[in-house]
Amino acid sequence: MKNIHTYDFNGKRALIRVDFNVPLDENLNVTDDTRITAAIPTIKMIIEKGGSVVLMSHLGRPTEVFEEKFSLKNIVSTLEEALGKKVLFGGDCIGEKAYEMSSQLKSGEVLLLGNLRFYKEETKGDKSFSKKLAQHGDVYVNDAFGTAHRAHASTAIIADYFPNDKMFGLLIEKEIEAVDKVLNSNQKPLTAIVGGAKVSSKITIIEQLLNKVDHLIIGGGMAYTFIKAQGGKVGNSLVEDDYLDTAHKIFEVAKSKGVQLHLPIDTIASSDFSNETPTKIFKINEIDEGWMGLDIGNETKKYFVDVILQSKLILWNGPMGVFEMSNFQDGTVTIANAIAEATQKGAFSLIGGGDSVAAVNKFDLANQVSHVSTGGGAMLEYIEGIDLPGIAAIRK
Ligand code: AMP
Repeated sequence: MKNIHTYDFNGKRALIRVDFNVPLDENLNVTDDTRITAAIPTIKMIIEKGGSVVLMSHLGRPTEVFEEKFSLKNIVSTLEEALGKKVLFGGDCIGEKAYEMSSQLKSGEVLLLGNLRFYKEETKGDKSFSKKLAQHGDVYVNDAFGTAHRAHASTAIIADYFPNDKMFGLLIEKEIEAVDKVLNSNQKPLTAIVGGAKVSSKITIIEQLLNKVDHLIIGGGMAYTFIKAQGGKVGNSLVEDDYLDTAHKIFEVAKSKGVQLHLPIDTIASSDFSNETPTKIFKINEIDEGWMGLDIGNETKKYFVDVILQSKLILWNGPMGVFEMSNFQDGTVTIANAIAEATQKGAFSLIGGGDSVAAVNKFDLANQVSHVSTGGGAMLEYIEGIDLPGIAAIRK
């Protein structure tokens, strides 16, 4: 397999699939440039090696026709700022102007193509569309981890047109390394912390993690299904009754594999899903009717922090409570701080998945953990052991 470190980019046009699917405000300004800055090291490395760069991405979910608010033109100035150099904009991704511009690119120049999703062929993984895109480059670099779990034209199918000139960018490389380090190194103990709203959306990842981890901490809304399965009273807390049997199975599997499963022992509850109604602490299995648990309580925090501080490898996905509301953010903040502290003491920590990533960013802890993943769904699928099309297409 070729790699970006040893490949000779001199005089070549690198067609890079990046993930510039960033949020824009109503004036079409970028409100969070994380994904743009994440792509910069790959772009700079290729330029430094004498190549030119053609960038392709999607933005939002357009309905297959041009709409101003989904134009990648909106991100050009943010990209220029992050890169510290001029970026040309090709308009349409397979239009005449775009081909003219990519064919005339000189070493060191950067061209951004138009939003790939103005064409339905992109998400359909259409071969002839991939072929048209492929004409923009001499070498294909996939650096869009966030879409690596999709078999789209630009993320997977296109790789066939570069049988000997395809590779990962630095960002994907780092993401893969981080997961491999957590799940496949033999340092111990390995602790996974899983939270968020529902058991149903995390069940595959929990099952997969049970094969690997020493400790599994379960928090957030999903914990109440486990507590109810144990016969606890959870009041009006979020419960998935269809998953009570699944919870029983997880208890059994954890026991048979020697995994220590840690559930909350107390909760901060409220009568409504609201930051305005009064809060009350309950034992986790003695929540009164009319109250719903919305964050972990102080005893739980101490208990979870203790496990985290003993860990050498840490994987975190999903908040401990409704961290979007100030009354119920403290559990998530405490866990994030404990992970930062464990990291400082030498543990390797990976934060994967949308809401825990949002949480470490919100609480300004992103640079105190080892790796914050840029790919929500893709990261989850990769941890689940699924062969991601975007990764498989480069490896095959
Ligand atoms: P997920 O996308 O599955 O990781 O879920 C994240 C969401 O779970 C966040 O928006 C949280 O507000 C929500 N959440 C966390 N804890 C609870 C809880 N105890 N009850 C209801 N929702 C929760």
